Amino acid sequence: MACCLIGCGSNQGARREQLDRAIELLGVMPGITLRAVSRHRETRPIGGPPDQAPFLNGACLVETELGPHELLGVLAAVENTLHRDRTERWGPRTLDLDILLYDQLVLEDSLVAGAALTIPHPRMTTRRFVLEPAVEIAPDLRHPLSGGSLRELLDNISHPHLHVAVVGVPGAGAVEVAGAIADATLARLVHAPRALPWKPSRSGVAATEPWSDALSACAAALETASWPNDPHDTVTDYWLGTLLVAAEDALAPSALERFQADYGAASASTVAPHVAILLRASPEALAERVAFHAAGRKEAPNLDAELGSTGSTGSDLTAGLVRLQEQLLARLRCGTRGGDGPLAVVVVGADDLGRAIDEAIAAVEATG
Ligand code: ATP
Ligand code: CA
Ligand code: CA
Ligand code: CA
Repeated sequence: MACCLIGCGSNQGARREQLDRAIELLGVMPGITLRAVSRHRETRPIGGPPDQAPFLNGACLVETELGPHELLGVLAAVENTLHRDRTERWGPRTLDLDILLYDQLVLEDSLVAGAALTIPHPRMTTRRFVLEPAVEIAPDLRHPLSGGSLRELLDNISHPHLHVAVVGVPGAGAVEVAGAIADATLARLVHAPRALPWKPSRSGVAATEPWSDALSACAAALETASWPNDPHDTVTDYWLGTLLVAAEDALAPSALERFQADYGAASASTVAPHVAILLRASPEALAERVAFHAAGRKEAPNLDAELGSTGSTGSDLTAGLVRLQEQLLARLRCGTRGGDGPLAVVVVGADDLGRAIDEAIAAVEATG
């Protein structure tokens, strides 16, 4: 038997009746036993088309003999019974049922019969409309990636001065996305004060000075002691942990050991972000941006500013960026609880920067 947390929402039709009917239908499904149901609460719509009606959101806890894909099939059947329309992304719906947690299972884009399934739900850690009802019925349930309990996840996004880090390899678009979030949410914007001292060829001989200089400069901008205590949230276009991940890729073992000691001290005296928006660009998009950059085209992201001059060929640089991005994703996604990282991580596709900006803003607005 698996213990599953399911999120429910409706903003079209007779919202309360539909949610009640959905939960009743779930409870009578073979292989599903209803354990707890939250109350429904009204929430404002996030993302999607403008002028959508407000939602009613809730959560329920079930025990089930069904596998995760079977459960997703049952949720879709219940949505269909209540006339769910699927034409528009994040559009109005009579009923939305999402699998938030399935025991401590982790699945990423697991495809069965054309339906992709990601568990835990990839956007749950920044969504107040998900976490509030979930905490009401299961505060101690753990989120297997971050390691935090639902109560801790809700407390994390409830901080009075939220700190959001937009994280990505050079060229992924962190500068653009962080700027857009700051504009949309009136947050303070903190730019990386130094280029990443990383070079694409994995040499293992890189000198340590540029790394300690970059670490000091980046840490200085995030000092706990001088962090403003004003009512504004802060958006940064970097995360200190990116320096560590890149150093692990670049430095020889003895140099890395020294850097790790410095990093430990720096991260202890700096503020860690509550939320990371992790930009993920495809290898093709990174290759295109590197080529634009080499050709001096204006569409190019400013790789010189983010990376310093690299002195490498385009394909070297692209392969290196792809490798670094994988290392960064692996580090951030699996959680850095109690350490240098955020409890809430949302991965956003970065090939289309306009879309990445919309998704990033939606993720941040969902905390409010
Ligand atoms: P969001 O996922 O941001 O809450 P949404 O609920 O509006 O958006 P839908 O259109 O309902 O998105 O779902 C799109 C697809 O997401 C579904 O067809 C389903 O295959 C897939 N999906 C992946 N992971 C999950 C999950 N954990 N729970 C429900 N659906 C999922
Ligand atoms: Ca049953
Ligand atoms: Ca949903
Ligand atoms: Ca859904």
